[in-house]
Amino acid sequence: RNLIAQTDSEVWAAIEAENQRQEDHIELIASENYASPAVLQAAGTQLTNKYAEGYPGRRYYGGCEFVDVVEQLAIDRVKKLFGAEAANVQPHCGASANEAVFLAFLKPGDTIMGMSLAEGGHLTHGMALNMSGKWFNVISYGLNEKEEIDYDAMERKAREHKPKLIVAGASAYSLEIDWARFARVAKEVGAIFMVDMAHYAGLIAGGQYPNPVPHADVVTSTTHKSLRGPRSGFILMKAEHEKAINSAVFPGLQGGPLMHVIAAKAVAFKEALSPEFRQYAEQVKKNAQVVAETLTQRGLRIVSGGTQSHVMLVDLRAKGITGKEAEAVLGAAHMTINKNAIPNDPEKPMITSGVRIGTPAMTTRGFKEEQARATAHLVADVLDNPRDEANLAAVRAKVAELTRAFPVYGG
Ligand code: PLP
Repeated sequence: RNLIAQTDSEVWAAIEAENQRQEDHIELIASENYASPAVLQAAGTQLTNKYAEGYPGRRYYGGCEFVDVVEQLAIDRVKKLFGAEAANVQPHCGASANEAVFLAFLKPGDTIMGMSLAEGGHLTHGMALNMSGKWFNVISYGLNEKEEIDYDAMERKAREHKPKLIVAGASAYSLEIDWARFARVAKEVGAIFMVDMAHYAGLIAGGQYPNPVPHADVVTSTTHKSLRGPRSGFILMKAEHEKAINSAVFPGLQGGPLMHVIAAKAVAFKEALSPEFRQYAEQVKKNAQVVAETLTQRGLRIVSGGTQSHVMLVDLRAKGITGKEAEAVLGAAHMTINKNAIPNDPEKPMITSGVRIGTPAMTTRGFKEEQARATAHLVADVLDNPRDEANLAAVRAKVAELTRAFPVYGG
């Protein structure tokens, strides 16, 4: 029985339409994925009813004996997955995980250093309108002329400004990040070294991208991107920081943890510990390489010269189309992407000259190199002739063949 439909037909209609959209579109947004049916089910359980302020074994509410089991499983699994000394699985999302770290180590007015949003960083790493940019003195690093992280400039700025905290990690950077180099300069200037691995977490779990955990004081992450869990966050840390981080998350920043989501995280971590997940992460990377190669053959430029991960930024200027228009026409052809500024973008942030493309979602629905290549050709077909309705309809028909052959949740 569909109880949502019975109780609330308006909400159900929108949910159903969204489910169908997810089946029918090729999802190319690098930060999205399809959580497994087991993860979805865990997030829809009675655990949503339970208050559990505190931590396993030390709660401010009675009746926590079963949610304690769930949270401890999540903690133990995520520590094992990334080889961490300690973990906090209560952050509601990636942004609140980052805020908790700032709350644990910083005071308003302190200096932090992060990658600039315009060159691939995340807005919680010091963007002017974000709390991180309003409450702290932000020093940004970016890319060099090869569109690689400018490590020399980053080190120079760290020595000059002596930030209290250095953040590494990005939302739109395709290459491997040299965590050890960041760690060395953080140690030298006495900064806390924080890595935000949100984008790369699934590849790291699957052994396909360098693990920051041995290098960083604290590592934050989301769970819903390449890691393929529910929409949420977590923090890993050296044991010496566990007390400070735990008290920053609760009672510092949050109230009761979302126990149903923590259950879904525990399930996702179990899935990520499996050999199949390692194969998945390998395939995500292979598919990204095929997409980058194919788009390059079709006359598009990949920022930073290619990808070593799940994500790439595509410079659209050769095709004479903006990111905003590309997002709209690709959407009309049933391929979902997001516009994204490229380094030194001449266009405004709401327009942009680029799009960001990622392969985690297509790989979850079963795409291998053959389908990844076909998808990249379809993207290029749209961009070659974006204002021709017949072209868009022809591409849409080919997308439908692919999506029907690879249903997400069994069709
Ligand atoms: N950190 C990075 C690197 C991200 O890319 C994102 C999301 O886009 C976040 C943090 C924020 O995560 P959330 O949207 O769950 O708050």
